Amino acid sequence: MELVLMDAPPTTAYLQIYTNKRCQANCRFCSQAAGANGDMKQIARGQYIPSDLAEVVRRLGIAYERGYLRRACIQTAMYAKMWQDTTYLISRIRETSPIPISLSVFPLSDEKYAALKDMGVDELVVPLDACSSELFSRIKGKEADSIYNWDTHLDGIRRAVRIFGRGSVGTHLIIGMGESGRDALGVIDELHTDGVYSALFAYTHLPGTRNVAANLNINHYRTVQLGAYLIRKGLASFADMTFRDGKVVDFGISHTEMLRYVEVGDAFKTTGCPDCNRPYATETHQETFNFPIDPNADEIKMIKEQLGIME
Ligand code: SF4
Repeated sequence: MELVLMDAPPTTAYLQIYTNKRCQANCRFCSQAAGANGDMKQIARGQYIPSDLAEVVRRLGIAYERGYLRRACIQTAMYAKMWQDTTYLISRIRETSPIPISLSVFPLSDEKYAALKDMGVDELVVPLDACSSELFSRIKGKEADSIYNWDTHLDGIRRAVRIFGRGSVGTHLIIGMGESGRDALGVIDELHTDGVYSALFAYTHLPGTRNVAANLNINHYRTVQLGAYLIRKGLASFADMTFRDGKVVDFGISHTEMLRYVEVGDAFKTTGCPDCNRPYATETHQETFNFPIDPNADEIKMIKEQLGIME
């Protein structure tokens, strides 16, 4: 956690517990997967450099106190000591600072969810990553030689809502792994009805990971972002939208309304837990999928072109 100048500084500290053991799961996109041989310090475009725990916790406390950071996010992997390591890190952070904590984890028991809440985790995220049960099986379930199961993940999300409350449980969805707009907006709408928010990520191929039949393109990504925004804000639902060959052809709102919502720009900003902006998590200097700050007038113009919207 060094002080560096950026045009869009992160508002959340992203932490990953370091272990030299690979995760017991085998998600195709992940460099920490059991069957991957990639750099275990990389998640999407983020580099997680091993650092001294006491120093990380000390600087996190200072950064929160001075208003540089507003949240800490802990990413976990599945390995034998995961629970002990995760709860130890949470307790060390809590000893030093009241900074809000998000935890991204595979489904746990109700007792463990309750223990995490008591320790001070305020946002619990169970990443589905894939947008349909078929894709989930191919990317991180049975067909990927992995241990996860769509129904178990959905059950883990819904149980978490009962403990953490509506609006305090989320999921991660990676766009561009072969899903259609219909798949993505269908699951986002279903989860929204259950009180669960969806954080969108752009698929990033990492060296040493297995192949994914990727379909990432900016028009698809923007369409999902706009549809997700309408659902999140209660402006339209999946049932209002029309799809052809899996693509949205009508969002269920007028053209004037659509232009107005696009011009507000919020739809294209990073989504997820409060104060999570993830600058450059999946972006390059050439292509921004999630804007960490409000898009400017030139960027809004570009977004309209990417969506194929005429004035
Ligand atoms: S949405 Fe952001 S803060 Fe929340 S778990 Fe995901 S990366 Fe962390």
